[in-house]
This record gives sequence, C-alpha cells and structure tokens, in this order.
Amino acid sequence: MTVEAAPNPPVRRLADWSAERLGDLADEYDTPLYVLDLDRVRQNYRRMAVEFPDADVYYAAKANTCRPVLETLADEGAGIECASAGELQRAIDAGVPGERVQYTAVNPPARDLDRAVEIADEHSITITAGAEDTVERLAERDYSGRLCVRVNPGVGAGHHEKVATGADAKFGVPIERVPELVADARENFDVVGLHAHAGSGISGEDLSAHRELVARMGDLAREVGDLEFLDIGGGFGVPYRPGEDPLDLVSVAEATREAVGDLSSATLTVEPGRYLVADAGVLLTAVNTVKDARDATVVGVGAGMTTLARPAIYGAHHEIRNLSRSGGQQTVTVAGPVCESADTFGDHELAAPERGDLLAIGNAGAYGYEMASQYNSRPRPASVVLARGEARLARRRETNADVTRLEQEDQR
Ligand SMILES: *Cc1c(COP(=O)(O)O)cnc(C)c1O
Repeated sequence: MTVEAAPNPPVRRLADWSAERLGDLADEYDTPLYVLDLDRVRQNYRRMAVEFPDADVYYAAKANTCRPVLETLADEGAGIECASAGELQRAIDAGVPGERVQYTAVNPPARDLDRAVEIADEHSITITAGAEDTVERLAERDYSGRLCVRVNPGVGAGHHEKVATGADAKFGVPIERVPELVADARENFDVVGLHAHAGSGISGEDLSAHRELVARMGDLAREVGDLEFLDIGGGFGVPYRPGEDPLDLVSVAEATREAVGDLSSATLTVEPGRYLVADAGVLLTAVNTVKDARDATVVGVGAGMTTLARPAIYGAHHEIRNLSRSGGQQTVTVAGPVCESADTFGDHELAAPERGDLLAIGNAGAYGYEMASQYNSRPRPASVVLARGEARLARRRETNADVTRLEQEDQR
C-alpha cells in the first residue's frame, strides 16, 4: 500500500493564512494576539526529521516556551534544549522525560545552577557547561551526572552581530582546550557529549561557515572519543521577506553529513529553535491611528516593541498584511504605542490602512512572545494555539493588575 505524504511546503508565507479565520480569532480574543498553529509546528519538525534521519532533534525552547509547543514537539519525538532553570522547569512540567532534556548554561547564575543540579539529580537531564569554571561550579555542587561541554569553535554565522555566538568569546570553551578539559572532567562526571552553536540565521550563503564549524567539531569528537552525541546547535534560518527563498534543508543536511565525517557510535544532534516555530505564528494587531505626517503616513497599531521586540533589537524585518482590505497599496510606516523612536515595525506596502483595520505581522512564532515585556506598563498580549483548526487560549492576556501585582504583594 502506498501512503501519500501530506503536503509539507518548506515555508508558510503570511499570504497563506486565512484572513477570515484570523479576523474571527481577533474578534473572539481581542488584540494584540499571538496565534500559533501547532499543525505547522509539526510539519516543520517533520521536514527536519526527514532531512536529518540519523540525527536527534532537540527543540531550543527559548524560541517559544508555550506549553502546547513543548508538548507538541515532545510528542513528535523532539528533545528539549533549555537555556535556563525556568525553561527546565517548563520542560519537566510539560512531561518531557529527563533523558530528552538538555540544559545549556551560559554564565549560569548560582540559583539557576542549584536548580538545574536538583532537576538533573531527579530526572537525569544533561547539563552543558560552556566554561571550565562552570564545570568546577558543578563539582562544588557534588554533581556527577551527565555532562556535555560547549565548545567555542572559532567560527560563527548569524543574521545580525548580536546573535552570532560561535566566534564570540562569551560562548563555550576554546576548542584547543577541550580535550584536556574532557579528560579531567571524566574523573568526576559522565561526559556524554560536545556542543557548539554558531548563532542564528544559517542561510544558503552561510554554508561554508556551517561546514567549517561542523568539520572542526567532527574532528574534535574523534579526538576526544567515547561520546553519546555531538551537538552542532541550531541557527537554521527562515525567510523573513517575501522574495527570500526558504533554507535548502537538503543541502544543509548534505553539507553537514559530509563535513562531520564518521562519528562511530556518537549521534549527531541538531537544535533548531526558530525553524520549527517562526512561520507557525502571526501577531494580530489593530490600527488605532492613521496620521499623515510631513514625509510619511504613520499607521499606529496596538502592538509595539513590548509585544514583538525583534525589529527594535535587531532591526529585523517582519512582513505585515492588512487583513481588512485588499488593493490600493500604499507605503506606510507601522509604529507601536511605546514612547521610543525604536518602537517601529518599519515601512511597508499595505492596502491603505484605516482606523479599526486588522493587521497581521508574519513569522511571529519565534522570539515573539518570549521577548515581550511590560515596558510602559503595558500588559503582555494573549496567545492562542490552533490544533487541527480548533483554537484554544494558551496564555491569557495580562491585565493592568498583573502589571502591578508584585509590588502590591510586597506591601502586604
Ligand atoms: C538559541 C539557541 C538555539 C536555537 O537557535 P535558533 O536560531 O532559534 O535555531 C540552539 N542552541 C542554543 C544553545 C541556543 O542558545
């Protein structure tokens, strides 16, 4: 019997979302509203699993820690890569088995490390240390469990200098010092893996850097020997602009296999964050004000840098679509409600927006809600998830009372 594979396009564009469906969700849950389609998250995971059939896929939770996302990906077979004790707690609470959880500590605060060791003792997660010092701090806590060493391989890739981490001294143990560190660490810990993450935004053009990193890591793994896994990190890019091609995952996988060489019994691990969730999410926001300024038309919307911070932090581009009308394109500046000049989503060609229109901001599934803040005392937005078309509230909208809740507790 032949089973026809379900269609699984390499990218979902903003234009592919149903304006009617999104409009209904905005009516029901109000705006700003994050919408995340869990079925698309599954599709993204499956493409990755198909192209890296021998690899283990760990989802970098920091891209979107919403519980249904963790549950969905764990259900598909993904492990979970955590950046903090808070994320560890989320993974464990979502029912992910400890053997499928990694904690990658970058200069971990003491409280974080204490909690990670506690969770590791109970659930046998893997702790990844990015400095000799962190290994010592783990020994001081009598930790003797599964340890992975984060390597600074001296090559990096990234879509913006602030996320190019591989070559950055902050991340990982310099590659030339790793064999000695591993030899020493083996006396106290169960050293199970090596790890490197070259920063986010591997694109077609960046493959040479990716190849270089993977080759160095493959050589290192052979030198060190006797490992369960070699983790080459995440950073699989997604197209943020309509003309941009999706990442050619087949080429990336091929380049990876070629460059890594024979790992004997060690499993290759990849850690995508953005790739699994970015195009599964949109942010809905309403037009509050349309202003003809001297040299621009400024469309003021409810979402801002406190809702989706990437444009303000990285100068990132997110596509915007007017769901309320079509035709009559006009170049406008879309700006948020925060009193900061960085609070803008940039210039966009939109069907001329009017007050009350509903806009959708694309690729909002990764690093959207996670970077939201309460700056300007703005409550964070609600998130809904879709599964087989059904919507449910995943995070309720904050209220003004939520914003002041902690101070009021202090005063009691
Ligand atoms: C952020 C991060 C990732 C995921 O990066 P993406 O660009 O979202 O794929 C993977 N591994 C580590 C250690 C990270 O910090």
